[in-house]
Amino acid sequence: MTEGISQSPDALKAEIDALLNEINQQMSTYLPDSELSRFNAQRTTDWVEVSPELYTVVATAQHISQLTEGAFDISVGPLVNLWGFGPDPARDSAPPLESIEALRDRVGYRLLALRETPPALKKQHPEMYLDLSALAKGYGVDRVAALLDSKGMHDYLVEIGGELKLSGLNTRREPWHIAIEKPTPEWRMVQKIIPVTDIGVATSGDYRNYFEQNGKRYSHTIDPATGYPIAHTLASVTLLAPSSMLADAWATAMMVLGPERGMAVAVERKLAAYFLIKRDEGFAEQATPEFQRLIGESTH
Ligand code: ADP
Ligand code: MG
Repeated sequence: MTEGISQSPDALKAEIDALLNEINQQMSTYLPDSELSRFNAQRTTDWVEVSPELYTVVATAQHISQLTEGAFDISVGPLVNLWGFGPDPARDSAPPLESIEALRDRVGYRLLALRETPPALKKQHPEMYLDLSALAKGYGVDRVAALLDSKGMHDYLVEIGGELKLSGLNTRREPWHIAIEKPTPEWRMVQKIIPVTDIGVATSGDYRNYFEQNGKRYSHTIDPATGYPIAHTLASVTLLAPSSMLADAWATAMMVLGPERGMAVAVERKLAAYFLIKRDEGFAEQATPEFQRLIGESTH
């Protein structure tokens, strides 16, 4: 990791921290004065100029919305917050149906227009509110990886909250080995280890961020079609993609689509996806041919 690097680890760390702070200041819905929070608070339906960085992430999200018929949708933010999975306080019971219905008219990726030059966004409903949590961490990972690349460092593993970018070899001069967790909230166990490198990796699941009411699990992934947290047997999705941002966004998209529609889209788009599906006992594994190819497993 150190070949030809003149910078001290402390100086590099400071540079990475500064970069991540800058990205948070652009995209976090948890910082009231971030660029995104200020855009969200604006009640205008005129064009609002935004940073090229914010534009890039929103444009990627919109593209995935189109490819998933709106299953992935960053305008779902008001529902995320209502269900207690955003900056508002967490909750332990479902919100009333009326409150969900009252937010439906401001949710929908088609209500957001994009202009590339100069980069700008336009709400069609003044109370639209965007939530980039499903792909901003992946974007941050890619930016840190690009910073390392620019310094001539090509063997690394960058990780933020479970989204990764891998490059080159590990300290044992082997490809990186990544553990995929069993999607159980009670304990942390390994389901599978995959050897991969020069790739983005992300996992989304229903087993970390959720609340339970009357034995029913409500997780932080919201189906924009219903306004409710997802209700199906897909427990986690691991996605491999050229960038961590794409892996992150697609993993969330698959979680919304569920085991059947998700697998159909993943196969059709030649995505490298690995699903863990709940069974009475444990989990069933399902991988796309592209996933098997990338981890060097034969498909028959
Ligand atoms: P994690 O942050 O745990 O890695 P994800 O990448 O799957 O998980 O992102 C989940 C977050 O995405 C939720 O907390 C919420 O902010 C946002 N979100 C929820 N439902 C959707 C959706 N249908 N489309 C886009 N983003 C969503
Ligand atoms: Mg995601």
